[in-house]
Amino acid sequence: MVLSYKGMDGQAHQGQLVVNADRVDELIKIFGQLYQMRYPIAKMLTPDHYVNADDELSMEDNNTSGYNCRDIPDTDRWSYHAYGRAIDINPLINPYHDVNGVQPKNGGPYLDRTRRDPGLLHDGDQTVLAFTDRGWTWGGHWTDPIDYQHFELR
Ligand SMILES: [Zn+2]
Repeated sequence: MVLSYKGMDGQAHQGQLVVNADRVDELIKIFGQLYQMRYPIAKMLTPDHYVNADDELSMEDNNTSGYNCRDIPDTDRWSYHAYGRAIDINPLINPYHDVNGVQPKNGGPYLDRTRRDPGLLHDGDQTVLAFTDRGWTWGGHWTDPIDYQHFELR
């Protein structure tokens, strides 16, 4: 799906998000809200922009993405990304963290959640509420792992 978003430059951009057809209507509404509130998104490219559609490279590049055929890190269970029912937003500055460390590997400085970088998500943010008010789960509410970039609708 093609979505409009505000970039880190404050300008309007169009991005591509690969999601399950049954999540398209919801995400159009949510991203419409994010656009209205001028929540900045670094980039929104399909996984094929990265060698082997590598999620680590996509995350290191702070790329917002949806579908990715992969399992949950350090498990053999399929992630909701494999069904196109989860999205990761600005993943470099909103990293994933578990006992084995941080993903992407250059995301360490952003585990400091007192930071106020544009696009960095905090509990109670309008951006987070745009999802959770519609029944989506935010990985920033989890404790192990913590996944600040991650939203999914089960
Ligand atoms: Zn995710």
